[in-house]
Amino acid sequence: MVWLLKKCERCGSYTLHEDACPKCGGPVKSPHPAKFSMDDKYRRYRLIMKRMSEKTEDTI
Ligand SMILES: [Zn+2]
Repeated sequence: MVWLLKKCERCGSYTLHEDACPKCGGPVKSPHPAKFSMDDKYRRYRLIMKRMSEKTEDTI
């Protein structure tokens, strides 16, 4: 599975930008850590989709 979303380390927003957060300019990184269970990944995915549906300006 390819993860396109990055998470801003400063404001916590999810973004498709890979270099910097479009909102605050903070650094972004992959939202999932090295260790994560399948259940945790699924929960994170649902959270991401929920946030994207709520904040449509994050989507391209
Ligand atoms: Zn940010």
